[in-house]
Amino acid sequence: MTDLSAALQNTSEPHSTNALQGTPEPQSTNTLQDTPVPLSTSALQGTPEPLSKHALQDAPARQSAPTLQNTADTPPLQRHAPLRKFWFDDVPPRASIAAERRYRQERLAVAFRLFARYGFDQGLAGHITARDPEWPDHFWVNPFGKHFSRIRVSDLLLVNTEGEIVVGEGPVNQAAFAIHAAIHEARPDVIAAAHTHSLYGKAWSTLGRTLDPLTQDSCAFYQDHALFDDFRGVVLDTDEGARIAAALGERKAVILKNHGILTAGPSVEAAAWWYIALDNACHAQLLAEAAGTPQAIPHDVATLTHEQVGRPGGALFAFQSLLEGLVEAEPDVLT
Ligand SMILES: [Zn+2]
Repeated sequence: MTDLSAALQNTSEPHSTNALQGTPEPQSTNTLQDTPVPLSTSALQGTPEPLSKHALQDAPARQSAPTLQNTADTPPLQRHAPLRKFWFDDVPPRASIAAERRYRQERLAVAFRLFARYGFDQGLAGHITARDPEWPDHFWVNPFGKHFSRIRVSDLLLVNTEGEIVVGEGPVNQAAFAIHAAIHEARPDVIAAAHTHSLYGKAWSTLGRTLDPLTQDSCAFYQDHALFDDFRGVVLDTDEGARIAAALGERKAVILKNHGILTAGPSVEAAAWWYIALDNACHAQLLAEAAGTPQAIPHDVATLTHEQVGRPGGALFAFQSLLEGLVEAEPDVLT
């Protein structure tokens, strides 16, 4: 017997007074004596069967996926003969000089619109040029003062070796001629070159260093870009352009200290995409160095990765993926 039940049994006499005689029997603790069994562990012991696994074991078995059948309305998938096709297959050459010129002009105009979208449109600085296929010492360039976001094919100017406009109207940025004429002359393989004062390229240029191979993407420029460490104000003569071209050498890009970045390539697509990628690589290294001490990719791996991601074919297709959306959204660019 527990202490609690014993205490209740000892209260057998009801507490009543004479004044209350005649009234019905008041409730007394006797009624509590009739309480059958106080709470005890025996009550729990009497529970028949604790929660068991039976409930889960009794759950219906998981049904297997039904076997699907083709029907008359849904015939089997028809596959063609297996073939191999990769992104970087060669693009068919254009059939004529006129077609090649138009191809370069369209991509040049699109490149300006893309540069505007990327924010590479600071002030009046910035130019992308494309060599003409018929007059290889002439190049197409944007008119000075026209915002990149509004440039159309019909706005492009053709400039000769003297910096004179021979097709189109509108002023030419003197710096554009001074820099690009020298590069097109020094590098016959270069079809296009791009230079603007984009924020991250400009910020990185102040450090006076080439980029490290910090990421897969930045390996596109591993041992393939140079530093031009001789800023002397706005480039207004071809002598300085020639020195920039000499610093560029056979590489795809050059960082112009205290100025910005420049890319050059065998197609408009390559020069433009490499510009976008180089500004992005500058941004990435600035972020990484601000956050800590980045760990560079080892030389052998960086060299291999450069071969994998640094080719003009990859740049061409990267640019093409941007071109399609832009032309769809801004079809006037091709007018
Ligand atoms: Zn500049």
